[in-house]
Amino acid sequence: MQLHTKDVDGVRVFTLDNPPINALGFKFSETILEALNAAENDGSVKGVVFTGANNIFSGGADVNDFSTEPTAETKTIRDVIAAVDRSSKPYAVAIDGNALGGGLELSLASDYRVATKRSKVGLPEIKLGLLPGAGGTQRLPRLIGAQAALEFMLKGNSQNADKAKELGILDEVVEDDAVSAAIELVRGGTKRRISEKTAFIGKGITAQAGPFVVSQAHKMVPAEDNGGFAAHKLIDAVEAAVEMPFAFGIAREARLFEELVRSAPSFALRHIFFAERELSKIPGLPAAEPLEVKKAGVIGAGTMGSGIAITFAQAGIPVVVVDSNDEAVDKARQTVMGMFMYQVQKGKLTQEEAWKRGQSIKFTDDWSELSDADVVVEAVFENMDVKKDVFTKLESIVKPEAIFASNTSTLDIDEMASATKRPAQFLGLHFFVPANIMPLLEIVRGTETSPQTLATAFKLGKTLRKTSVLSGNAFGFIGNRMIFDYAREAVALAEEGVSPMRVDAVMKKFGFPMGPFAMSDLSGIDVAWHIQKSRGEEGKGRTNVIDRLVELKRLGQKTMAGYFKYDKAVGKGREPIADPQVEELFAEEARKAGIAQRTYTDEDIRDRLVYALINRGAFLLAEGVALRPGDIDIVYVYGYGFPPHRGGPMWYADEVGVDTVYAKLEEFAREFGPQWTPAPLLAEIAKSGGKFSTYKQKELVNA
Ligand code: NAD
Repeated sequence: MQLHTKDVDGVRVFTLDNPPINALGFKFSETILEALNAAENDGSVKGVVFTGANNIFSGGADVNDFSTEPTAETKTIRDVIAAVDRSSKPYAVAIDGNALGGGLELSLASDYRVATKRSKVGLPEIKLGLLPGAGGTQRLPRLIGAQAALEFMLKGNSQNADKAKELGILDEVVEDDAVSAAIELVRGGTKRRISEKTAFIGKGITAQAGPFVVSQAHKMVPAEDNGGFAAHKLIDAVEAAVEMPFAFGIAREARLFEELVRSAPSFALRHIFFAERELSKIPGLPAAEPLEVKKAGVIGAGTMGSGIAITFAQAGIPVVVVDSNDEAVDKARQTVMGMFMYQVQKGKLTQEEAWKRGQSIKFTDDWSELSDADVVVEAVFENMDVKKDVFTKLESIVKPEAIFASNTSTLDIDEMASATKRPAQFLGLHFFVPANIMPLLEIVRGTETSPQTLATAFKLGKTLRKTSVLSGNAFGFIGNRMIFDYAREAVALAEEGVSPMRVDAVMKKFGFPMGPFAMSDLSGIDVAWHIQKSRGEEGKGRTNVIDRLVELKRLGQKTMAGYFKYDKAVGKGREPIADPQVEELFAEEARKAGIAQRTYTDEDIRDRLVYALINRGAFLLAEGVALRPGDIDIVYVYGYGFPPHRGGPMWYADEVGVDTVYAKLEEFAREFGPQWTPAPLLAEIAKSGGKFSTYKQKELVNA
């Protein structure tokens, strides 16, 4: 951690150098503050320029500091910014790379902002359940207007330099050498502190519109108790910028920030942030050099195959898709073209780029085109014999050093690997539907999967812009194994007299984008039926509801009827509509099975579903299928829509108290049967008064 200092023609240039992201943590802030005071007292210094080393300006505060209680002596980025604001000299920033969070707030405190073309700026604090707490909420509305500032901060996405200049955040964008341009501005310029300006609502908008803009913003973000806690506070801070003098606004911002930094949603989001950084740390795995993936193959041009092919093409990896069913190939071609054309329409791709991407996906029925692929992902029907045949065939065609992967949802990776001569280069790559959009990838480790194969998979996951989580080779891996228990409880509740619509409404209120029944309708009741059958006794439900639905050809959204009915005129045929016929079906099946009808509170419903996830998660941890509680949380937040502001099921268990969860599981086990027996690990943690978050990593074993 260093602050380099150089004087150029009377301008002091400070270079932030705190790898990897020049984080402005407590210690570094102290160093910067001392240097600023020295510059202030040095008569030969006419102005100051900040720039950054390590190809970045600054990624902002050190996220670890948020959980550290500052003492009276602690110096923070706020103190640095206050010193800049107080200074009698002009300041400029020369941004080359990212200026995010506190990095951008430091820039806003300066008089001039120059960036190179490749730079990006952003205030992403909202993504951690926070607000920009070092003056960002007060300065940005004074610079670009409250309306634009709200949009910028509530989305939290970074903008490239040209866009930022257009918004009015940057003064100049240069090809390179931002430092020289910044020095020029400081030498020729005078002070023009944003703090001395008055905030405005927006270009061409009168001040009277302020309350309307603020109330609209409050309406557009999620409810306070459902993911919008920080958003509402951020809007309050911007309102203060518009209504109060700067110093009062800053004080209000600080108070709101303090409230957020201690709030449960922010802790949960920070947990997700840190858990994501742990994912690729595999205890006991020897270091290995990943192989380069220059060409990929996909077998099967169905729903998953076409999505996976798009994913490769988007990452610049040419891909050959093999399927001998002409109809499937035609449909896949249309999906691919439709996807790229949509991106052109949205302005995300040029016609030429779309064409190029389309060209990088080749559909064929000629398997020999796969001979030089570096990785081949199988996405054919969920049937072990079909899959084994595919791999046996691939073995004789594809170069021996290539990696084979299966996108199976439930089948045994080791059994498939045994059909090849390369079990060390075999693994599961479990994409989620739609594969080109969903951010999660489960990397499934077989018994013989080599360290190099795993290293390649993690690197490939990164190239494909996926969040990769390692799973052991066990039925359903992490995500689906847990969802089976969740779905089991959803069905059980409906059998006990709770309508599917109510179950879904409770889970949406909890924060899921859709409830369990709408999710089943989306993935297909036939899929659930197949999985149930393949599990034999274990998969058997208490009633025959699923068989009955399949008999009635109520397979879900695709047949416009499943647990719910659908109508093309309502939400483009995707909006679930309650169907009394299904409720009657549940009641009838329950009568036959002798299941008592009950009344439940919303909390009962929520606990039945979420605790089913938690208990299974605890089993998977003990079995070593999942490495860490945080890995499970990432799977659920990124793959299944678990509300991020609740941190994932295992984090949520800690929040509720593992002992409370345990007591409830025991109660459920007494009332509903052994499927609710608490996982021994959960019992152990509950009895010791512990938490999942302090549970020690285990080496991954194959269940
Ligand atoms: P799908 O029925 O849409 O597509 C399967 C495709 O494979 C078809 O186009 C078929 O023509 C082709 N195919 C079958 N046998 C083949 C063979 N021997 N050679 C070449 N092509 C062959 O199925 P899907 O939904 O894409 O699922 C594929 C795999 O992905 C399954 O293992 C499934 O469990 C898994 N998966 C599915 C989802 C999902 O939600 N759909 C999610 C994750 C994983």
